[in-house]
Amino acid sequence: MRSSLTGVGRARAVAAFVLPVVLALGASPVLAGSAAPALSGEEVVPDRQPSTAQDGVALLRVVVPDQAAVDRLNALGVDLAEYRRAVDDGIEVHAVLSPGEARELRGKGFDVRDAVPNQAGFAANQAERRIAMSAAATAAQRNDTLTPLRAEWFTSTDDRRFLSVEVKSSATDAETVLTATWDSGPGTPPGSGGTATLSRFTDAGQYMYHRFDYPLPVTQAPARVTVRSSRGGSVTVPVTKWLGERRTPPGRHYVSDFVDHYMDPTEVTRRITGLAAEFPRITQVVDLPYRTNGYRRAAQAQFGTAPASTFHVTSTAYGSQGGNDVSLALVRPEAASAALKVSVTGKDVVVGLATDASGAITSTARQVVEALNADPAASALLRASTYRGDQGDGLVAAAPATRLTDGLKAPQSVSREPFQMKALRIGAKRDGSRVGVFLYCQEHAREWVTPLVCVETAERLLRNYAHDPRTRKIIDDLDIFVLPTANPDGAHYSFYDYNMQRKNMTNHCPARSADPASRNSWGVDLNRNFSVGSLFDGYSGASSDCTSAVFAGPAELSEPEDRNQVWLTRKYPNIRFAMNTHSYGGYFMWPPGSYKEAGRETLPRVDLGTENYFWEASRHILSAVQERRGTAIWPGRTGPVPDVLYSAAGNSADEHWYNRGIIGWDFEVGADLYDAATGRFQPVGFQPPFTEGHEEAMEFSGGQIAILEVARAYANDRRRPDSELKVTGRDDSSATFTFTTDEPANVYYTLDGSRPTLNSRKLVSSGVREGAQRITVNRTTEVHWFSVDVAGNVERGYRPGGTDRNYRRERVEVRGNR
Ligand SMILES: [Zn+2]
Repeated sequence: MRSSLTGVGRARAVAAFVLPVVLALGASPVLAGSAAPALSGEEVVPDRQPSTAQDGVALLRVVVPDQAAVDRLNALGVDLAEYRRAVDDGIEVHAVLSPGEARELRGKGFDVRDAVPNQAGFAANQAERRIAMSAAATAAQRNDTLTPLRAEWFTSTDDRRFLSVEVKSSATDAETVLTATWDSGPGTPPGSGGTATLSRFTDAGQYMYHRFDYPLPVTQAPARVTVRSSRGGSVTVPVTKWLGERRTPPGRHYVSDFVDHYMDPTEVTRRITGLAAEFPRITQVVDLPYRTNGYRRAAQAQFGTAPASTFHVTSTAYGSQGGNDVSLALVRPEAASAALKVSVTGKDVVVGLATDASGAITSTARQVVEALNADPAASALLRASTYRGDQGDGLVAAAPATRLTDGLKAPQSVSREPFQMKALRIGAKRDGSRVGVFLYCQEHAREWVTPLVCVETAERLLRNYAHDPRTRKIIDDLDIFVLPTANPDGAHYSFYDYNMQRKNMTNHCPARSADPASRNSWGVDLNRNFSVGSLFDGYSGASSDCTSAVFAGPAELSEPEDRNQVWLTRKYPNIRFAMNTHSYGGYFMWPPGSYKEAGRETLPRVDLGTENYFWEASRHILSAVQERRGTAIWPGRTGPVPDVLYSAAGNSADEHWYNRGIIGWDFEVGADLYDAATGRFQPVGFQPPFTEGHEEAMEFSGGQIAILEVARAYANDRRRPDSELKVTGRDDSSATFTFTTDEPANVYYTLDGSRPTLNSRKLVSSGVREGAQRITVNRTTEVHWFSVDVAGNVERGYRPGGTDRNYRRERVEVRGNR
C-alpha cells in the first residue's frame, strides 16, 4: 500500500545530517529564495485509489533549494526515490506523485517539474517486456549451445584440491540453468566425483558466462567434467591442472624475509635510499620530478549545531604553516543594538555579533560568513562558509576563542612538506639498453601490505646478487624501477588519521562540501586519474563527485603522483613491463581495464598472441606466488580486468599499455583464505594482522621476482615461432581452418595469394576466452601466412616489410571446386 502524505504535525524526526543534532521540524527556519515553500500545517490529501492502476501517477522531478527542503518533502510524506543530484538552482529529487498531489505541492511553493523520462514510458516498457518474454519462450523450445571456456583443477592451501569451471550458453536469459558433473579421476565413472549448479555471471547488464562463484572443494582431481543446460545443451571437456608449474628451487644461499612490520611511506622511502647507499654499483635513486601536495591540510573550525546556524572557517595557510595558530571568537556585545563587526589582532579573529534593542543576538550564520569574507584582515587568515550549501539563516550563538586545527595526528617525524617520491633503480647496466620493468605499489593508501611487497623484492634482489646466479642474471639483464609507495600522502593519512583512506590527501571539494566532517572523504583516486579510458572519455567506474571513493579528480593527470608515473615511463622508454600492486582478493589482471556502461564497450582487447602470452606468463608468475604457502590465485580471478573484476576508468595499467605499449599487469595481493572447518573462503581485508600481511608480502614478492624472470626471458628471446594450419571442418561447399602456434604468437594471413605483411588480416579470438577464430572459405584457397611472437621474432626469419617469399603457404581444398 502506498503511504499517504502526512502533515507537518506528524513530522518524523529528520536525521539526515552529519551534525550531531536532530532537527525538530517546527523549529526549522523559513527557507529563502523564490522557490522556497513556506511552512504550512495543512495536509496534502492523497488522491490515489488503490483500485486504479493507472491514474496518472508518475515519477516527477522536484527541484528544491536545499537539504532542508528535501527534509520537508520527507516530513510531508512524499514518496521520494533514493536519488538526488545537485543542479544549478539546488537539489533535484524524484517523487512519485499523482496529478493532484503535484498540484498541492506546487501550491505549497515546491518547484515540481516534468517526469523522469525513462520512467514515463509505461507502454513502451510493457511492449519490451512482452518481446523479451516471447524471445525467452522461443529459446526454451530449442537446445542451447554450450561453449566451454575453462575447466581446471588446482591445489591451494594445505594441498586441498579445488575445481573451477566456466561455460557460456548461447541462451543468455536468466532462466537457463547449467549443472556440472565430474568424475573422480581417469577411468572413473562420470558423475562419481560430484555435481553442482553453476552461477550466472552478468556485468553491466550483460550475460558473460556461467561459473562457480567460488572454486569448489573436491577430493580427487577430476579428469572430465560434463555441463548440461536446462535448455538441453551439453558439453564434456577434459579438466586441466591450473598452476603448480615445477620451478627450479632457489639457490642454497638465497635469502629472503626482510620486512617485519607495516611501514609508513617515510620509513619505506628511507629504506630504499638506504639500499641505494649500500649497493651503489647496481642501484641509483630516481627522484620523481613532481612533488606531492604533502601530508598537510588547511586548519578548520566549525561553529553551530543545527545546519542553518552552522558555519565553518578554513585557514588560508596550511595548518603546519601558521593555519593552526589562527583563532576565531564569536562575542556577544554588552551593548544593545550593536552592529556586526570583525576585528583582527595578529592571528586572532573576533566577530562582534549584532544585537537588537533588547540585546538579543540577531546575526545569522550567513551574515557572519559574509562579514568574515568581506574583511581584508580576516580573509587573509581564513575563509568562511555556511554548512553544506545551506542558506545559513539560523542565528549564531556566542563562542569562546577557538583555535583552528588541521587535525593531523602523525608525529612530527612525518614531514608536512610536499613529498619527494623516490624510485629505486636496480640494474648492472643502467644505460637504457636493457629491458625495463616498473614495479609500483600502494596507489591506494589503505593497502598496507603492498609497499612491503615492493621493499621485499628490492631487498631480495640486492642481497642475493653477490652469490645467487639466478638473481645475478636478472640484475645483469634488466633495468628495474621500484616505486614502493605511489600515494605517500594518502598512506601517511591512512597510518595516522583514518585507516580506510584510499585516495590521496588533496581536497578538490568546493567550500560547501569541505566542512571538517567531510575530511575523510577528500582526495583523488590515483587509479582513476589517468588519461586512457577515463571518466572524462565516458568510461565507467569513476566519479566526478569530490567525496566519492573513486573520484577521478578535476581533470586527467591532475595529480602529481600520477604525473610522476607517466614521467618515469617516458623518461625510460626501455620500460616494457609494469606491475601495479594492490590489495586485496588475490587477482592477476591485465588490460583492458575499463568499459563504457552502454553496451559494455571495452577499450580494445589485446590481440590473440598477446592474450595467449599473458596466460602463459600468468602460469609462471602465479606458480611462484603459490610456492610460499600453496596459495592458488583462482583461474576466475586471472584475466583482463573487466572480465574478472569491474571497470576502472582511468587506471594506470591502461595508461601504460595503450599510451606506451608497456605490458601493464595488476596484482591484488591477499587471496581469500580457505577455512576447512566451514568450507568457506574468507576475505583478508586491507590491513590484516601482520602475520598474515607478512605472508602476503612474501608470496607476492615471489610473484614480482617471477615477473622479472618473464621480462628477462622476453629480453633474451631469440627463438622464432612455428605455426600450423589446421583444417577443422569441411563439407561439399566449404572448408574451415585455423592456425596453431608452438608459443604465443600472432598469425598474419592472406587468402588472395598475395604476400602477407603486418597489414594483412590477423588471426583473432573468436570471443572472450574462446580461443582462435575459425576461418571458412567456399572455394579452394591458397593461404599465405607467417607468425610473430611477442618479442618480435618472425617465423622462418621472414621479413614482412621486405620482398622475399619465405612465408608459409598451404592449399585449403574445397570439394567440387579444385
Ligand atoms: Zn587498490
